[in-house]
Amino acid sequence: MKSGNSKLRKALIILGALICIVNSVVSGTIVMRLDAIKIGSFAIPSSSVNGTIQGFSFMICILMVLADYSFGYIAALICIGFSLFGTTRSIFITHALTPLPGVINGVLYVLALSFIAYQLRLSKKAELTDKLTGRINRYGFEEIIHKKIRSFEKGSIVFLHLQGLTDININFGRSNGDIVLKTISSRITNIVSGIGEAYKLEGSEFAIFLKDGNDCEDVVKCIISSVEEKVELETNDNIANVYITCKAGIADCINRYVNPDTLMKNADIAMNHALRSDDIKYCFFNERIKKGAERERDVEGYVKEALEHDYFFLVYQPQFSIKDKKLRGFEALIRMRLPDGSFISPAEFIAVAERTDLIFRIDSFVLRRAMEEFKEVIDKYSEDIVLSINVSAKDIALEGFAEKLFDIIEQTGFPKNRLEIEITEYSFAKSTDTARDNICKLRDNDIQIAIDDFGTGYTSLAQLLNLPVNLLKIDKTLIDNICTNEANSDFVNAVIYMGHLMNCEVISEGVEDENQLSLLKQLGCDFVQGYVWSKPLDYTSAVELCRESINE
Ligand code: C2E
Ligand code: MG
Ligand code: MG
Repeated sequence: MKSGNSKLRKALIILGALICIVNSVVSGTIVMRLDAIKIGSFAIPSSSVNGTIQGFSFMICILMVLADYSFGYIAALICIGFSLFGTTRSIFITHALTPLPGVINGVLYVLALSFIAYQLRLSKKAELTDKLTGRINRYGFEEIIHKKIRSFEKGSIVFLHLQGLTDININFGRSNGDIVLKTISSRITNIVSGIGEAYKLEGSEFAIFLKDGNDCEDVVKCIISSVEEKVELETNDNIANVYITCKAGIADCINRYVNPDTLMKNADIAMNHALRSDDIKYCFFNERIKKGAERERDVEGYVKEALEHDYFFLVYQPQFSIKDKKLRGFEALIRMRLPDGSFISPAEFIAVAERTDLIFRIDSFVLRRAMEEFKEVIDKYSEDIVLSINVSAKDIALEGFAEKLFDIIEQTGFPKNRLEIEITEYSFAKSTDTARDNICKLRDNDIQIAIDDFGTGYTSLAQLLNLPVNLLKIDKTLIDNICTNEANSDFVNAVIYMGHLMNCEVISEGVEDENQLSLLKQLGCDFVQGYVWSKPLDYTSAVELCRESINE
């Protein structure tokens, strides 16, 4: 589209130049052949006609320069040069100085056009430059990449995303944030000097074009470690060391048939992939991550559709006491059925929902739906079963989460001492003060708390002892090898022992066979949840199970 525009502009400039040249020829001929042009009883001196034609040509020249201060300016100079040549020539041919004012006008036009072109060049440069770092900005970068690809230049583009700048702005002020950005910009520029160019995109992003023939991976590693070195800031009376972290996405422009927009999109996809991962610092674009990003976009669309059109429903997996298979309660698990009858696994769409913040709407849906469905069951069949509901770490860390939950409890009339909220161990380990406040508010209101996927999330012992928790849920990955791997069974044994020391009950998740079951019984585990005794059930079957368990 952009190159289509510039072709049209060039065609118009060439047309303008042709008109100017024809004007010069016509006006030159008039001056040479006629003294005056007669219209009825009026006679207009030919020099006046010539002046008017020159003025018209000059106006066209200005438009040409405004259309393109480089190509249009050269075309305008050629036109004026042509006209000056004709006018000067006529002085010599006629041996009269009548055309002299035209020559002086021509020179003044050249000066005026040069001034306009210079000003336009300056303002374009300012438009394409990042004021803070002095580097070319995103618009300039895009133009340059278009040019490089058109001129067969091979190389790689690297997008760099800096993290931590917002915290520095908050803690040390924006002017210190600017200093950090400038320092990092010059570090990057020094590294790529001679082997590429650095550009400053929006916010805290930089781009680099690395010429072909360099070890891209080495350069990127070097840039990342240099960016992540400390930056010293002078505060009121001392020096503060601040740190920025950096992730990179890399895409190669290998041939001139690649579309520049696609190339930049690929670098963005690679950078996003690195940003989403906890342990990847940089990522090269490849088809696999592109497909992953496309799938993620599709799944995000399905989640939105599902929330809008009620494609979500809940199943309930029973939890039993290991001693006597007495029903403890159910874990509510979300399912998504698309209109074509296909299912998408929660393991996939919950991860996407977490990244896109759709998880807040999902959690609210599950909390409300599960409590609405189970309120009646608890009233009718069993007053002491527990309804366990998964809540995302993001939700629990939100100011007002506890109040939102209390509202739902009130609206549904669900007995709050029968509600258990499951939070993964991973999110517990990373929990913020707000998350802890929310958890404490829930505990103060008799709501039970379970740590889900226990054994996978690196909670420290100190954290564990301070947690207001009722139930530890040992993760399925630990249960899987419990009968074949002694270290695993020792670990599970230790978790059960520790759980009891903390006054918690312990449940094992994903128990699939009788051998696992009897070993867990020996180790003193309190409850089980797993295919060995029941898969997740639809609502009607879950109600039926409650009815049976009360009749036993
Ligand atoms: P989770 O909370 O740890 O849930 C347990 C998962 O293990 C469930 O998978 C359950 O179906 C599965 N499972 C239980 N017993 C067995 C077994 O014996 N063998 C095998 N192979 N699997 C077993 P599901 O339903 O696919 O859920 C996966 C994860 O998705 C859940 O892990 C939870 O993290 C998330 N999730 C599910 N429902 C919700 C929800 O309503 N809200 C939120 N925030 N997350 C949910
Ligand atoms: Mg769970
Ligand atoms: Mg789990």
